[in-house]
Amino acid sequence: MKIELVNPAQKLLNKFGQYSPPYGLAYIGTLLKERSIEVEIIDEAVGDKPKYKCNFAIITSTTSTIKRAYSISMSYLNKGIPTIIGGVHVSSIVNTHFKDELKGVSTSIIIGPIENIIDQLINDMNSFSLKKCYVGTPVCELKSPDPIWNENKYFTYPIQSSVGCPFNCDFCAVNMVYGGLRMKNNDLVLSEIQKASKTIIFLDDNLYASPNTSKILFGRVKEEIGYKPWGGLCSLNVYKDEKLLKLFSETGCTCINIGFETLDPKKLDSVKKRNRAEEYANCVKTLHDHGILVYTGFISFPDDDEATLKNLSEFLNYTEADLFHYDVLTPFPGTPLFEKLEKNMEILDYDWSNYDFNHAVIKHKIWTTEEWEQNVENFYKENIPSQDSIPLKLSQNMSFTNPSLSLEIWQKLASYLMGTF
Ligand code: SF4
Repeated sequence: MKIELVNPAQKLLNKFGQYSPPYGLAYIGTLLKERSIEVEIIDEAVGDKPKYKCNFAIITSTTSTIKRAYSISMSYLNKGIPTIIGGVHVSSIVNTHFKDELKGVSTSIIIGPIENIIDQLINDMNSFSLKKCYVGTPVCELKSPDPIWNENKYFTYPIQSSVGCPFNCDFCAVNMVYGGLRMKNNDLVLSEIQKASKTIIFLDDNLYASPNTSKILFGRVKEEIGYKPWGGLCSLNVYKDEKLLKLFSETGCTCINIGFETLDPKKLDSVKKRNRAEEYANCVKTLHDHGILVYTGFISFPDDDEATLKNLSEFLNYTEADLFHYDVLTPFPGTPLFEKLEKNMEILDYDWSNYDFNHAVIKHKIWTTEEWEQNVENFYKENIPSQDSIPLKLSQNMSFTNPSLSLEIWQKLASYLMGTF
């Protein structure tokens, strides 16, 4: 039996897909291969096209790629190949009034994780008796995928040591999707790191979700592997953990992405983000003191105005934050934010392909949708860091012993953000 595993592309195609291989599909592919099934990953984000040379297709989805997932599924069905659609979006809408959109778009759907239903799924594939719906539940033990993607097509090597987060911000879907915080056995993580051939990107939603586990992990990386360039996401409070930052720096951490979201404490409260904005500048400085670049994440809120943009611009200049993203507030179905905005009739656009952080899908208090999107785009153009700043900062990092890999990825990321990629 052969299965094509398909990652649909976003509407706004860019080369950012090359940033990281589809780890989730590789995970499913590994489980299938362990059961003697031939698999092939088709990643539209790097230009792959469905081959239709298989017995079944499994298609993953996010909210912004679900329409493309439906269309790919229909193309397989039209050729007589049964399809199974899973992923974040399917699991997010199954208990909402949007669930009817799943009818007739595929042979089956998978809700939740696949581990404890995979054997049943394979049995049903073998007997050509696929059910309409399979419901998986989170398993305690996270496993490691084999790197079955084509390494030449990607700039980085993905690794995941945990899923979920101890916080519950109103706009965030990670705990809804993963069923809470779960850690992978450190032996498995170390073996993934050993295999990494390029700059590592940790896919963890929050590498500081369990500080003690992170200290044990990176202590072992230091002792057993040494220095390999990597980046990842952490919550703000990581900057107060001197011991962990030292381990980060010693093991090759070149960049940490932190969701600051906004400089306004009231807006932080409004989405239940437990940050203290007055700590941001100190956070950036502390990470810089450890030779770590800071990739700050900000949200464009529906009551942001000219003064907000001016303050944010001054903050980025003053702190010398290295990279930033400024995403239009996007409510994903199933999250508390979505429920609140829908109840208040503030959602303007239900075209899921626009739920990509670049399009405004909710009402702004003062700007039209077009003005909002244009103001965000202008903010990027006016505030993006200079092309030279990243290599300069990396060269100033004294612990940076193997610059070529990380330099390549961070230059590419900076170029992408500048729209010159
Ligand atoms: S801290 Fe980050 S990962 Fe955790 S719930 Fe908030 S947005 Fe999600």
